Amino acid sequence: MSQSSSYRYSELKRLLLQYSYEYHVLDAPTVSDAVYDSLMVELKAIEAENPELITADSPSQRVGNELQGGFKKVQHRSRMLSLNDVFDVSEVKAWVVRMDKLLPGARHEFFADIKMDGLACALIYEDGVLSQAVTRGDSFIGEDVTNNVRTIQNVPLRLRETSKTKRLTEGRTEVRGEIVMLKEDFVRLNEAQRAAGKPEFANPRNLAAGTIRQLDPKLVASRPLTFIAYDLIRDDPSEITTNMQAYEYISELGLRRNVQATVFTSLDEVMQFVHYWDTARHELPFNTDGLVVKVNDRAQFMALGVVGKQPRAAVAYKYAAEQATTTVKDIVISIGRTGAATPVAVFDPVQVAGTTVQHASLHNADEIARKDIRIGDTVVIFKAGDIIPQVESVVRELRPKQARVFDYETALKEQYPELEFERQGDDVVYRVKGASSELLLKRALEYYASRQALDIDTLGEKNVVALVDAGLVKDIADIYALRLEDIRALDRFADVSAKKLYDAIQAAKTPALERFILALGIRHVGAQTAIDLANRFTSIAALKEASLDDLMQVEGVGKVVAESIYGWFVDSDNLRLLEKFTELGVVPYYTQKTGGLVGKSFVVTGTLQSMSRDEAADHIRELGGTFQTSVAKDTTYLVAGGKVGASKLAKAEKYGTTILTEDEFTALVERA
Ligand code: NAD
Repeated sequence: MSQSSSYRYSELKRLLLQYSYEYHVLDAPTVSDAVYDSLMVELKAIEAENPELITADSPSQRVGNELQGGFKKVQHRSRMLSLNDVFDVSEVKAWVVRMDKLLPGARHEFFADIKMDGLACALIYEDGVLSQAVTRGDSFIGEDVTNNVRTIQNVPLRLRETSKTKRLTEGRTEVRGEIVMLKEDFVRLNEAQRAAGKPEFANPRNLAAGTIRQLDPKLVASRPLTFIAYDLIRDDPSEITTNMQAYEYISELGLRRNVQATVFTSLDEVMQFVHYWDTARHELPFNTDGLVVKVNDRAQFMALGVVGKQPRAAVAYKYAAEQATTTVKDIVISIGRTGAATPVAVFDPVQVAGTTVQHASLHNADEIARKDIRIGDTVVIFKAGDIIPQVESVVRELRPKQARVFDYETALKEQYPELEFERQGDDVVYRVKGASSELLLKRALEYYASRQALDIDTLGEKNVVALVDAGLVKDIADIYALRLEDIRALDRFADVSAKKLYDAIQAAKTPALERFILALGIRHVGAQTAIDLANRFTSIAALKEASLDDLMQVEGVGKVVAESIYGWFVDSDNLRLLEKFTELGVVPYYTQKTGGLVGKSFVVTGTLQSMSRDEAADHIRELGGTFQTSVAKDTTYLVAGGKVGASKLAKAEKYGTTILTEDEFTALVERA
């Protein structure tokens, strides 16, 4: 493990323990659950790769936190565990596969219920009479909050005795459940606070948790809490065989439980339940933080055991969070249609509200300074209006020492050395100096039609000016929407010349992919780079999805070029432009190169005796192969001119890349 990831790990650990303390002990979290969960996912990923790091005090191993003073400590007879989070169907499937490995052939019967967002509590009944109520605490030891729990109206002081429950009212019966404050009670309480000129409470979960740990039961009685049971435990486990049966008993005993809980025999049905409650949960009387899915059979549940602090036989399904954390890998500048230079943060990909987010606009230099966003920072991102990802804030505690302040002007100079930018008056946006959108459009259109690009020879400078000045063309795709009569109506054109231009434009609807890429006018993308991009990605759709790393794998594409390409494809005007091309019937085509090296990719390292690197690259390309600059997952051959460096060798081994000597390489080229 590298030094920086071990530093990252210890920082994450420290911060999660602090958040957990604020949440579980102080009942005053400083970050949202989504942020906590997101950082926890990262911590667990590091632990999964480096299991030797896991210690008993890791936040992934601990339930709750140390106990506060004031209450008697009580040891639980069986641990009150927490649950492993899953976030999508693939993780649910993986969970089932893990269980199937441990219990091959076991019956698939799942029990699913809504997960209430409150605090866990165990009620102990002796011969049907409530004798003790204990919080979850650190999962082994909880706090005796009996006096407070007695004030909760729907907690029976004596269990209902019927013919079905007779046995359960004899000896010890433990009922586990969640103490929540119902939404309507919370609203009413806050109305009363407001009326009395007192501060309002922030959220029902923390209020419920804080209330239960008050030392004054009278105060507790004044705050409406509700207990909802989710488990029933007897000394002899064989008395209750399934989780559904436990729920039926819970009702019979006079306790509240969720009537929505259901048993399913297939994963598809479980997922339907998951999807249904994704929206329906908002109508429930209490706040939820997902669903709980368990193995229904309790003997099977027990047999599957516990890892760390979670039972193997249950998971918590968490719905797509509107917030997540990720790291800023880079900030690139995108130049839009109007010449405005917009900084865009590039992230490690992360799921937010159901989609993968890889970048977000940072709007302008002032915004970056105000939020103090640096390259390397961990940031909280959210989706504004549920669509456009935005950076909400920086998790300052996780700022690495090498985090870099983004120097806007230097970045502009580095990325676009041939352009001049200016900021006028109190405009917060840098723009290309002297460029109006009209001027930029004229240049873009001329370039699009130029010889090396789409080669529409009748669309020269003068015609471009005429079309743009007449307002017939507002972006380059508009040329394909021109009608013959639109062109003919302009002074410059006679019938014949109008027809000639119209036909030339129509004939340019199926350009070769490399020419089309070039024609888009992405800065730093010249003819050779356009060819390399076309060969590597083979479609505009794939090029659009490429990450910075993917782009940098292409021969001749360094950081600056990759950033420019990336910046072009994240601009919303450009994305609309691409859609428009498609709508107007422009379909770039890619012809698969033929030759004996098609489908093979090469990296050349060291100096070759018989040819230069460029010559080697040409040979490879002519024969349909791909020339790469560094060894990646899809590299077929590493051609070694001399001794191969240790890091290249390690990568080649990792990816199963074949190493060729120069002689083997030339033989391969000759045969191909
Ligand atoms: P968990 O999410 O691991 O879930 C286990 C708990 O779910 C059980 O103990 C039980 O109390 C509860 N539960 C609710 N409904 C249930 C049902 N129908 N069946 C079974 N169990 C049910 O809980 P956790 O270990 O308390 O902690 C993690 C939660 O706390 C996360 O949601 C996390 O976001 C939050 N948290 C937030 C912060 C913060 O700073 N915001 C800090 C720490 C933890």
